[in-house]
Amino acid sequence: MIDLHTHSTASDGTDTPAELINKALSQGITTLALTDHDSIDGWGQALQAHRQPLSLVLGAEVSTITSDGISVHILGLLFDGDNPHMQIMLNETRDQRIPRMRKMVELLTADGINVSMDDVMRAAPVGATVGRPHLADALVSLGIIKSRDEAFAELLSNGSKYYVENIAPTPEEAIAMIRKAGGVAVIAHPFASRRGQILTAESFSDLVKAGLNGIEVNHRDQDSSEQQSLDSIARELDLVVTGSSDYHGTGKLNSLGENVTHPAQWERLEAMADKRRVVIS
Ligand code: AMP
Ligand code: ZN
Ligand code: FE
Ligand code: FE
Repeated sequence: MIDLHTHSTASDGTDTPAELINKALSQGITTLALTDHDSIDGWGQALQAHRQPLSLVLGAEVSTITSDGISVHILGLLFDGDNPHMQIMLNETRDQRIPRMRKMVELLTADGINVSMDDVMRAAPVGATVGRPHLADALVSLGIIKSRDEAFAELLSNGSKYYVENIAPTPEEAIAMIRKAGGVAVIAHPFASRRGQILTAESFSDLVKAGLNGIEVNHRDQDSSEQQSLDSIARELDLVVTGSSDYHGTGKLNSLGENVTHPAQWERLEAMADKRRVVIS
């Protein structure tokens, strides 16, 4: 079972990289990509915990934003983790998440929802990419809300008045950067319409020009008709089709391996990186 999209405590997942690796091993995952938001900080720990028969893939889920303000997540896989340009792009997006979070906290407190930046930072593991799930956890600890899910439903969705955009590269910039660093780029859950505004089918050709390699088709946030549309777009544009769990530990219902990538599709994708970088043992 090949699962190419998972999160750890290096971003907003609740399992440490070591716990994630152990779970993957015990649940029969054969190839796992660690794709924390705007970070590869969990990689060192993942490598240490890693053992056969699991194959491990370096990755990051890069936050991007289109010129129309649509939030798009790009999965970068198999790039050179030491590439300085890639590191700068990830660091810049990660760093701006602090002032962005401060703005969200200010909007909430101005409306009488009393949560502080300290509460949010206490909810986030040290060094983690700070995101709305940590704000949700802070609201849960304060007894304002019951769960991450309820926090997103009531207060934190992309359409909410408390939502603040990330300052991030465009999808094309991120894709080009991932490719330059030797990796492959897959657009994550592009038709997850209940999360907010999504890309049009027409915009995919620009992403292909920038170097896009694949589309995440099988993902729980896309219903069967959304998955079918993506499948035809992938076929038309000759892109690799992936499926993945987007596992976040206990932070979300998604279970490891609930959606997987077909071995033939993975073989194709892996061959598009500039080197073989999968860690086998
Ligand atoms: P951010 O990166 O701060 O914009 O937050 C986005 C993160 O929130 C993504 O990782 C999503 O997986 C997560 N998220 C979105 N909706 C929910 C939800 N209903 N419950 C838990 N996490 C969610
Ligand atoms: Zn997340
Ligand atoms: Fe995502
Ligand atoms: Fe994700």
